[in-house]
Amino acid sequence: MTRLVYNFGAGIAEGGRDDKALLGGKGANLGEMMRIGIPVPPFFTISTEACRYYLRENHFPDGLEAQVTQAVHNLEMATGRKFGSAEDPLLVSVRSGAAVSMPGMMETILNLGLNDRTVEALARAANNRRFAFDSYRRFIQMYAEVVMGLPAEPFETLIEEAKSSRGIHNDTDLTTEHLEELVARFRDLVHEQAHEPFPDDPEIQLWGAIEAVFSSWNVERAIAYRRVHGIPDYLGTAVSVVAMVYGNLGDDSGTGVAFTRNPSTGERKFFGEFLLNAQGEDVVAGTRTPVSIEKMAVRLPTAYRQLLDVQQRLERHFRDMQDLEFTVERGRLYLLQTRTGKRTAMAAVRIAVDMVEEELIEEAEAILRVDPRQLDQLLHPRIDPNASADLIARGLPASPGAASGRIVLDSAEAVERAAHGEAVVLVRRETSPDDFPGMVAARAVVTARGGMTSHAAVVARGMGKTCVVGAQDLRIDNGSAVVRAGDRTFKAGDWITVDGSGGAVYAGRVPTVDPKPTEEFNRLMEWADRVRALGVRANADTPPDAVKARELGAEGIGLCRTEHMFFEDGRIQAMRELILARSQSERARALARLLPMQRDDFIGILRAMDGLPVTIRLLDPPLHEFLPPEDEIDDFATSAGVSPDEVRVLIEKHREANPMLGHRGVRLSITYPEIARMQTRAIFEAAAVLRREGLDPRPEVMVPLVAERRELARLRSIVIEVAEAVLAESDTRMPYLVGTMIELPRAALIAGEIAEEADFFSFGTNDLTQMTYGLSRDDAAAFLPLYIEAGIFPDDPFQVLDREGVGQLVQMATWEGRQRKPHLKVGICGEHGGDPSSVEFFHETGLDYVSCSPFRVPVARLAAAHANLNTIISRGRAIAARSMRAESDASERLRQIRRTEAIAPRTGDAALERAAEREHGKPVL
Ligand code: PEP
Ligand code: MG
Repeated sequence: MTRLVYNFGAGIAEGGRDDKALLGGKGANLGEMMRIGIPVPPFFTISTEACRYYLRENHFPDGLEAQVTQAVHNLEMATGRKFGSAEDPLLVSVRSGAAVSMPGMMETILNLGLNDRTVEALARAANNRRFAFDSYRRFIQMYAEVVMGLPAEPFETLIEEAKSSRGIHNDTDLTTEHLEELVARFRDLVHEQAHEPFPDDPEIQLWGAIEAVFSSWNVERAIAYRRVHGIPDYLGTAVSVVAMVYGNLGDDSGTGVAFTRNPSTGERKFFGEFLLNAQGEDVVAGTRTPVSIEKMAVRLPTAYRQLLDVQQRLERHFRDMQDLEFTVERGRLYLLQTRTGKRTAMAAVRIAVDMVEEELIEEAEAILRVDPRQLDQLLHPRIDPNASADLIARGLPASPGAASGRIVLDSAEAVERAAHGEAVVLVRRETSPDDFPGMVAARAVVTARGGMTSHAAVVARGMGKTCVVGAQDLRIDNGSAVVRAGDRTFKAGDWITVDGSGGAVYAGRVPTVDPKPTEEFNRLMEWADRVRALGVRANADTPPDAVKARELGAEGIGLCRTEHMFFEDGRIQAMRELILARSQSERARALARLLPMQRDDFIGILRAMDGLPVTIRLLDPPLHEFLPPEDEIDDFATSAGVSPDEVRVLIEKHREANPMLGHRGVRLSITYPEIARMQTRAIFEAAAVLRREGLDPRPEVMVPLVAERRELARLRSIVIEVAEAVLAESDTRMPYLVGTMIELPRAALIAGEIAEEADFFSFGTNDLTQMTYGLSRDDAAAFLPLYIEAGIFPDDPFQVLDREGVGQLVQMATWEGRQRKPHLKVGICGEHGGDPSSVEFFHETGLDYVSCSPFRVPVARLAAAHANLNTIISRGRAIAARSMRAESDASERLRQIRRTEAIAPRTGDAALERAAEREHGKPVL
């Protein structure tokens, strides 16, 4: 019979940390703790395999019932209590847990096993009747909502009524009698709404809960979470059934959540929050604001010392920062969960680097522990310290960064407004998992309640979303759509600015400044640079961008879009005159004005990149982009000395039905070679100036939108002729290159031919994607989200390279080009150059470099290091896989792969699972 249930307790632990795929992260790690002698309540875990079966077949697999019955019996033996007993009842919590942690996304049910009889026994055993009835009413409410699908509000209304009719404000002031009465009302409410009585039989309760946890895998918020975090849908969840321990038995009990290091800064200091006389959900739901963990030392000194010891052991054992849940029952400590702690990018970097120093991990592992996508956060703006900011409220700095947006009080509205391009900040009393889509859509999240481990804090941190929680001065009035702070009132739609690093909320839009990399960050990047094979350059169009790019580690410029220089004030006029020139001489005049402007820019850029290659692209975009809009025609005409009507006629002459496919790129240089000549002259005059200063400029001239070898041949001879002339005039020499973008499918198809005329290729994957799909870059946003939602496209192909189609063109053109010219330099300068998954592909394709916007340079450097390390690891895996026994089951194979890794990666199990899936060609689980 298939094994579906695994037992833990009374000295037995039928699984551990390597069994996450089967037992879920929660079950596997609880088992591991039990194995190493850390106090954990007895439990059993129903495997993810049973869940997958249930979700597929809509009924439980054969054998599950018998195995669960046996497991319940084992629990009874281990605890000395009996399920449903009127004397000493066993109560359990039923917890979800997938292989990959999805905090707050699925269901948990506490105190299962209570009914009118067992509650009396619990009251006697605990010698605390109030506690027993409080647990009972919580259980009925939770069960009714989660298992029976009843709405929460009527229960909340009953609680409010119970309090208001007696003039009570806090739940904690409800007496035993009040709670007993509430329980009776809850039971009536269930009967009335569900048309059946509340189930008293613990067995029925248990099966209902198991089914609800399985089904919660497919609730909307869980699906949304998986999509955002790239977690595969086929994994399914395990169900752990854990003997209850109580943190609310009085002032010698309590519960808390802790991190072995600070998850926000990475500081090596035990960090956590604690509530005396409370149950776990009070902490996580943010309904009571907990106190810092140090207070526990005073209130529960023995348990605190034990906890300090446990947290150290756990960190050393798992070799990573842990996120713990614990309960103290009458002075006795129990760990209820440990998992790899979610952390901000800043903390991820610091912890990884510190752990190398502490000799817990190797450098390669440190590199792999930081997700390149997360680095973005570190490079996020901060509030400008010199700006005057109008403080509204202070809260806890839950997730760093600074962002401004309009106040929105509702998740659905945040989604809708963000879809229309509005910057919004989601402001809530507290968030629940249902707010997840709104959190994704918002620029920042603010909550009035909750601590650093509340749902909002954990989820925002995981996403790298700026977030402040527990801003207690804010009073949110959803009814009249206002937020009050002291005597001030802010309406939904008003601008605010959130500082997630400092934990503050400001009125209006406060200016921000760019971040400064920390020492740890620089260390990690140095290590990454040592192991990567791919070069990283930046796309930069101005001298300040070039300086920034170099600071962020760019090894040159992969794309300088010269046309961007013309959008600036004072220049656009000359550019317009150039385009609208009616004669050769008018054009020459305009070019003569443009030349010194371009030269100055090139001097600045080449200087900033002294000694590094700078790829400068000749004019590319459709000319109409530069032409004056209707309301500027009169002004333009006056300063150009022509009549407005004449201007209109000329504009009409340049109008194209399809400018993206029109007179742009190299086609401009073919029709107006004097523009290419001017630009080339500007480039080499700038380089010559720097040469005279003793610098080392390395220009590379790039021709855009080439489709045909003869186009490039013609441009190449123009560029070389002008360059040689300028260098001769200034009596200097320097190496330079002339190359082309590959951004049209035809160019990719005949890349071998084109290589004859090129010193380098640079893939323009923006256009190459547009042209391959026949999908306009500028208009696709209208329907692309729908394609992604419907699963027709896995990702936006303008963000994540389409390996199958566009990628094939990249591979082919690289291969053909190098066949013809073995030392052809090949790079990529489309947006994909800063996307980690695309960087991996470019690494695998053997490109020389990627080029991306300056702020993404560190992301690309780290992604390139990951790509190279992963190549090394999968080589190791392939060898290991070959040596495995053919009959070993899939999860055993996965375990072996883990054990045999040369460098054990802990980049998140999702990544591991995906890698394993790729390797085996199908899900291995
Ligand atoms: C490209 O097409 O990928 C590219 C880099 O050029 P642009 O975005 O300027 O068209
Ligand atoms: Mg392009």
